[in-house]
Amino acid sequence: MTTNQQAFDTARAIIPGGVNSPVRGFGSVGGTPAAMVKATGPYLTDVEDNTYVDLVGSWGPMLLGHNHPAVVEAVHQAVDAGLSFGTSTPSEARLAELIAKIMPVERVRFVSTGTEATMTAIRLARGATGRNLIIKFAGCYHGHSDGLLAAAGSGLATHALPDSAGVPEAVTSQTLVLPYNDEEAVKQAFEAYPDQIAGIITESAPANMGVVPPKPGFNKFLRDITTQHGAVFIMDEVLTGFRASAQGGWGLESAAWTPDLFTFGKVIGGGLPVASVAGSAAVMDLLAPVGPVYQAGTLSGNPIAMAAGYATLTNATDEVYETITQRSTQLQAMVTEALQAEGVNHSIQNAGSLFSITFGTADTPVVDYATAQAQEAFRYGPFFHAMLDGGVYLAPSVFEAWFVSAAHDDKAMNKIAEALPAAAKAAAAA
Ligand code: PMP
Repeated sequence: MTTNQQAFDTARAIIPGGVNSPVRGFGSVGGTPAAMVKATGPYLTDVEDNTYVDLVGSWGPMLLGHNHPAVVEAVHQAVDAGLSFGTSTPSEARLAELIAKIMPVERVRFVSTGTEATMTAIRLARGATGRNLIIKFAGCYHGHSDGLLAAAGSGLATHALPDSAGVPEAVTSQTLVLPYNDEEAVKQAFEAYPDQIAGIITESAPANMGVVPPKPGFNKFLRDITTQHGAVFIMDEVLTGFRASAQGGWGLESAAWTPDLFTFGKVIGGGLPVASVAGSAAVMDLLAPVGPVYQAGTLSGNPIAMAAGYATLTNATDEVYETITQRSTQLQAMVTEALQAEGVNHSIQNAGSLFSITFGTADTPVVDYATAQAQEAFRYGPFFHAMLDGGVYLAPSVFEAWFVSAAHDDKAMNKIAEALPAAAKAAAAA
């Protein structure tokens, strides 16, 4: 039998770091990543035939659990009809219409990754306004396009420095990185750069620095100030969409307002590569071939991926969201109880059904990137490994949300409950 170590060694001899996305590596928690070969319901199974309760859910898409029968059946049917046409096909409009029924958007353009979706949204904002500068918030992740790989800027309205080698400063200098939840910083940026800001991009509820909910009214403030200055407001719902609630992070605010553009991903592909930029016809119809803003993709709107997304969203019933909310609440209570029993100072923050733990922050709410980074992150590695040993697969970084699915049943919850006391002890001893 192949071991996880052998699988990892084979992979890293040919794939940089052995992974095709850095977050899958165990860089921040140490150890050898497990190589998974199978997924069913709430479980993942590795090459050594160990089964784990999965709380990563492929980083968000698996809302219904792994290999949901309706999704698998839809994919099989689509496969039988052909893998890719490179033409328009009715399943694209069908999924787009469904998205527009759930979210306040008039047009949808499908791409294959969240990165492409946010990149296109930024291009649209610039194309719509004829301006260059984009505001993003420190700690918000919007994929790995050059201009958005700039979270490191600190001071107010500082032209950002690249977060990665290979990204020209000339590109990130067009991105203004501001502290999250800071209305004053946003106002000052619009004053400092009059008629130069094309748009603001924000996660509707940030979940890439741990979960940091917007202060009440913050998103509406962003809507109002962009309207006032003729800038485009982009809400990135790649992670939160159809997940934090049925209507994503936006839905948590029962909003009487809408952004100009949303970006979606993850759940809308049900585990296959689908993302989209969507929004008002006025902005979206600037896209080629109708308008002057170019965007394209060989496999965009792939029929298998469209089928998986449609089956996922049509099976995401009220009951599914109720189950996920209930399981998420239960899990948060279980984690709190276990950590409290060991006297581990921590807090749990949530945005709808999404939540994350931070260590050492019980008295200092995490409101932005600086407060998120100030936590006792060193407690997470031991916590993570004790959970893994107990058969629970968490994200290998404390800065990730926990993803519960509708397939997390009592048996899966019990396995998590059994693993938690040792993990809490390990966190306390760290
Ligand atoms: N935006 C957000 C909010 C995300 O969480 C992510 C990925 N986690 C992306 C964009 C990028 O998506 P992808 O990894 O599909 O490029």
